[in-house]
Amino acid sequence: SYYKSGGIDVWTLFNQAAAKAKAVNLGQGFMNFESPEFIKKASQKCVADDACNQYSPPRGRPNVLNAIAKRYSRILDRQLDPASEIVVTAGANEAIYAIFCAFLEAGSNDEVILMEPAFDQYTPNIKMAGGKPVYIPLRPVPGSEDASGIVSSKDWTLDMAELEAKISEKTKIIVLNTPHNPIGKVFTKDELEAISNLAKKYNLLVISDEVYENLCFDPQTPHIPIATLPGMWERTLSVYSAGKLFGVTGWRVGWLVGPKELVSPSLTAHTRIVFTTNSPLQEAASIALEEADSNGFVKDQKIVYHKCRSKLMKAFDDVGLPYIQPDGAYFLLVNASKVEIPDDFEFPDEIAVRGKSDMLTYFFTTHIGVSGIPPTEFYSPENAHIAENYIRFAFCKTDDILDEAAKRLQAVK
Ligand code: GLN
Repeated sequence: SYYKSGGIDVWTLFNQAAAKAKAVNLGQGFMNFESPEFIKKASQKCVADDACNQYSPPRGRPNVLNAIAKRYSRILDRQLDPASEIVVTAGANEAIYAIFCAFLEAGSNDEVILMEPAFDQYTPNIKMAGGKPVYIPLRPVPGSEDASGIVSSKDWTLDMAELEAKISEKTKIIVLNTPHNPIGKVFTKDELEAISNLAKKYNLLVISDEVYENLCFDPQTPHIPIATLPGMWERTLSVYSAGKLFGVTGWRVGWLVGPKELVSPSLTAHTRIVFTTNSPLQEAASIALEEADSNGFVKDQKIVYHKCRSKLMKAFDDVGLPYIQPDGAYFLLVNASKVEIPDDFEFPDEIAVRGKSDMLTYFFTTHIGVSGIPPTEFYSPENAHIAENYIRFAFCKTDDILDEAAKRLQAVK
């Protein structure tokens, strides 16, 4: 019941279709960059160390808690206590699920507000914890596209009155994701203030999914953690990811940060979900955290991804397909409504039943040879029409992959 059709998640569905079609896989957001030596060495060293291969305390290993406290005291602009204000989780995914489990009353239909498109894991995780998702879509400002049809991610906005109208007696949590997957929107200070004012007015908890914290491409819109706004630390749990920060999505190491009163129940839930996350890579993450800012890796990554973004945007400029220009994260939402699918093109039933965005994505995967993810997966059925012409492509890829994609995309012309 957690899947749209066929008992399969969209990532597996399109990874399988991409492999079968030998497509350039720009679907699921995994990187194919070679990891730098200091990260490989860190993981090798920790896996080889007997002391790092047994259970860790549920909250996390002392070294990684200290390294997180050090880095995020700077980012969140306050002195963090590693013993009470952080939990190390099995990726950001599990952090968010643990928070839902901690704060939603099973069977109560406590409500959680999601801004659509919303990462596809949120909805099932809310339901698994006994809550009810309530959706509000981001919408493009009418007429904001340029002559080529390109829209800035800044122009996909929330109607704050509509957001307020979605808040009920039952609302407990708002989930914010900035930089945003898949739109690439980096919420501005004004937008964050408006959300904060509502969270304070109605006494709501904010989960701030900031896994793309380091990937902001426009100096005009730097990443601002909502927890740094006045009165927000007390009601925010911020979520981060070693996989995203260090380009190692398979590590499944993330962390949540917030005030003790919110972190303690999340730790209890985390303990009952996985008890603790894998020890050697927690320890490796502590080394990566200590080194990645000072040795220039974090800064360089941002430059690399910025170049990847330019490359993929140019590939679509060249074939005249417009997109939402992302200010952050590593996805490009391409408007493929102009693409003509031949009448005799056959879709497997499991794709056809899923709707237009899936069909477009499938056509690109099997016919053009470049695969993506249908962004309608990030929507409730009532709002999915907003994204039905779009395909999401990930640009966290090396030049050879992006060049090959550009070459294949020529077939769209
Ligand atoms: N966050 C990544 C993406 O959106 C990975 C998602 C996943 O594998 N579940 O592509």
